[in-house]
Amino acid sequence: MLKVKAISKAYETSDVRTHAISDVSLDIAEGEFVAIMGPSGCGKSTLLNILGLLDRADTGRTELLGEDLSQASDRDLTRVRRSTIGFVFQSFNLVDELTVVQNVELGLLYRGFGARERRERIEAALDQVGMRHRARHVPKQLSGGQQQRVAVARAIVCAPRLILADEPTGNLDSANGAAVMQLLKDAVGRGTTVVMVTHSLAQADQADRRIQLLDGRIVSQTQLGA
Ligand code: ADP
Ligand code: ADP
Repeated sequence: MLKVKAISKAYETSDVRTHAISDVSLDIAEGEFVAIMGPSGCGKSTLLNILGLLDRADTGRTELLGEDLSQASDRDLTRVRRSTIGFVFQSFNLVDELTVVQNVELGLLYRGFGARERRERIEAALDQVGMRHRARHVPKQLSGGQQQRVAVARAIVCAPRLILADEPTGNLDSANGAAVMQLLKDAVGRGTTVVMVTHSLAQADQADRRIQLLDGRIVSQTQLGA
């Protein structure tokens, strides 16, 4: 499904060069649930951004669904990203001025769905996350847990084959965190591949595989019981 081979990425700032990711190789299967752990600054977000085609590695190879994207144009990366990947972030990243329905609709508008199909998909996605009763609210009228459920609805409404979640429960209490984890597991149950960054070992242990990063390198991988 998603493969990176010997990727590295460094950031240059004025006089310092930071190696964020060094020689990382990963092969993620379709339908797999992968958790990435590691201390602050070890390269988790950098890796997730490369996997999500939001950023490019300096060296190495990136493949999604059998397509080698290492040399792809920005335009092709955007096309593949929009057709294949849904994102969930720690800080929800909803648009404050838009209602729940309008936030969820954003991803569908990009992709040219008609009004009727948009409505049906939005209702189904909001049902899945239990937020249909808040359709006309704006984000600030919702609790954090509710906002993240809306963000999950926005990620799943296009039926992406891959969901990337960067500390999706980092700003939530444990009950809301567990609810969002369950939504990600539901997506895996429907065959979606999920890659999640988390600081919670209890959450990581609910994945199929736990990957430990340290100083930009994979230091261990644990296959977990299904
Ligand atoms: P994590 O998500 O594990 O906290 P990051 O991938 O955000 O780690 O960062 C990895 C390293 O790269 C850190 O040392 C960080 O300071 C550095 N870094 C991340 N983004 C940038 C950037 N835009 N410019 C310069 N350095 C960066
Ligand atoms: P929860 O305990 O469910 O995480 P809260 O205690 O923050 O959420 O909110 C309880 C209910 O009040 C929720 O249904 C939410 O939609 C509503 N609510 C919270 N904050 C506001 C607000 N600023 N304006 C309108 N409704 C709100």
